[in-house]
Amino acid sequence: MLDSKQKKLRRRMFAIGALFGTIVSVALAFSNDFNFVGIFTFICGIAWLSLAALFQFSTFKLRALETIAFAVLCTQYMCADLLYVLLSPFTGQELFAEFSGDLWVLTIIIILGFLFFKPRRALVISICLIIVSGLVVTFRGSLVTDRDFASVIELLKAGLYFLVCLYLIHTLAMFRTAAKSAKTEAKQLEKLAFFDELTGIANRRKIAEVLTKEVASAQRYQTPLSIIMFDIDYFKKINDQYGHNFGDITLKEVSSSVANTVRSSDSFGRWGGEEFLCILPNTKADVAFELAERLRLGISDSLIDNGPQITASFGIAQLLNLDNVDSFINRADQALYSAKEQGRNRCKPNLLRETSEINKTGEYNPSHFN
Ligand code: GH3
Ligand code: MG
Ligand code: MG
Repeated sequence: MLDSKQKKLRRRMFAIGALFGTIVSVALAFSNDFNFVGIFTFICGIAWLSLAALFQFSTFKLRALETIAFAVLCTQYMCADLLYVLLSPFTGQELFAEFSGDLWVLTIIIILGFLFFKPRRALVISICLIIVSGLVVTFRGSLVTDRDFASVIELLKAGLYFLVCLYLIHTLAMFRTAAKSAKTEAKQLEKLAFFDELTGIANRRKIAEVLTKEVASAQRYQTPLSIIMFDIDYFKKINDQYGHNFGDITLKEVSSSVANTVRSSDSFGRWGGEEFLCILPNTKADVAFELAERLRLGISDSLIDNGPQITASFGIAQLLNLDNVDSFINRADQALYSAKEQGRNRCKPNLLRETSEINKTGEYNPSHFN
């Protein structure tokens, strides 16, 4: 699936391609002196211009526009030649048996076909195009009076060329499809491995990985780092009274409320059952505390239909130089525990200070945190 940025880029690319089609078509119309073929090509030019505008400015489905663009391309290629042949008795234009120009145009159309459609469909379309094009060329050649044996050989050579060409393009397209599905599978596996199935946010494995990296980075560059650990209050009771389904909805609501509040540079994940962790790089404890207060109010303000008021308790800690990941988490957990003890639905910071102070007061004992 393409995300909206990729879609926009693709639309722009197609719009540029369609503009190129307009220029080529108008040039061809002029070079044909606006005879019937010239007029037809000019009309195709208008179609390309409209398509360019549609690709760039409309909200029509990209897939539908791509299919229309491909149909216009095939029609232009096939019909211009056919018109040229059929109208030659009236226009007096000379027919020619030579068709080297058709080879590369058809090759480009086939490549585009494989880019637009799935390999099997593109293969069928390509074979049809080659057959129809071969028939038109043969028909045109058969009308030429001074045709010689060499042109038949040329036609056979072209057939062989397309056979090899199709085989190669089809093989490449199959590789492309296989690579695409491998990428999708890898994404799905990553989703399963790193994201919580119920809430869609990062799972413990992922958030722990982020925390390890952030702790290393904050200690290396001496930047502040804070975490907020929170836990939904009396969640067991909620499950018991309102059912497990309601409990699941609560978890989803709380997750989305918090995910919508934290900054995009912050990380947020599910630490355990109804326990969550926010990681706030470049944030001191006082700012983290303010954010925790906002999260707390956001949760207690959101009311799920026919449900009780949901509240949560929050523990905040700022990284110290002597901290490791475990001690850091434990300090946030201790703060959360004291928020629970003091009556729940509140935020509590862990007040342990920076190393120099700790050393002075002798407060800090890393073994407390293991
Ligand atoms: P406290 O205020 O002290 O945090 O009490 P509590 O009831 O929230 O805490 P406790 O640890 O006793 O209960 C947590 C409950 O969360 C128990 C468990 O069944 C429930 N739980 C854990 N994961 C899920 C889940 O994915 N869905 C639902 N519906 N419930 C879950
Ligand atoms: Mg709880
Ligand atoms: Mg809990």
